[in-house]
Amino acid sequence: MAVTDAPAHRDAGLPPRLDSTPAAMQRASALPSASPPAPAAGRLPHQGPQAPRPTRPRVSFKAMRVMHGVLARNPLWQTVAGWLESHERALGAFTAAEKTVKERLFGCRMCGQCALPSTAYACPMTCPKQLRNGPCGGVSFDGSCEVYPGMRCVWLMAYERAEQDGKVGDLRRLQRPIDQRRWGESSWVNYWQGLDEGLWTRDDALATNRIALPILPSKA
Ligand code: SF4
Repeated sequence: MAVTDAPAHRDAGLPPRLDSTPAAMQRASALPSASPPAPAAGRLPHQGPQAPRPTRPRVSFKAMRVMHGVLARNPLWQTVAGWLESHERALGAFTAAEKTVKERLFGCRMCGQCALPSTAYACPMTCPKQLRNGPCGGVSFDGSCEVYPGMRCVWLMAYERAEQDGKVGDLRRLQRPIDQRRWGESSWVNYWQGLDEGLWTRDDALATNRIALPILPSKA
């Protein structure tokens, strides 16, 4: 089903409406498809080399906060992102470099809408269930993952890192489901262009009974 965000609906702070008219369905089916890495034939989604596995970040929360400060969105980075978007090869090279670095440091799977700044830089997409709001109820008493009992739950890693830096409050924000069409895109470019605004609530989502996530901006 296609998604519409008619202004009146957007103004009301509500999620976009689903448009299921035949014309909208036809438009939606013509969209290019992007999807998470698929499991190899005959394997369950959590099996195989490409399956998400809890990954311990290789760089400290503090160091990443400094790095994020350098790369924070500003007119310069916005210009860089705009230039990259209009130069296909350069964008491809930049995205490949981002993939190499982030894969090594965080086990990044290139979902294109990065949650790292809100999860103490532990990637939630390495959770075998890919929970953006974790942990699930299956974590063992010793902190191991339900799917991979020999591995520590990535959400516990996030909590421990956040606790060390006094940022546990970050983990009480509510994360929006990602736009599945953006797999494989550069999350930095999306961030610089403001396309991932509203990926999580500003404040503690558990302290209110009125949760409002803004509508995600869409690419032109
Ligand atoms: S872009 Fe997505 S998959 Fe990559 S580190 Fe960020 S949240 Fe994880």
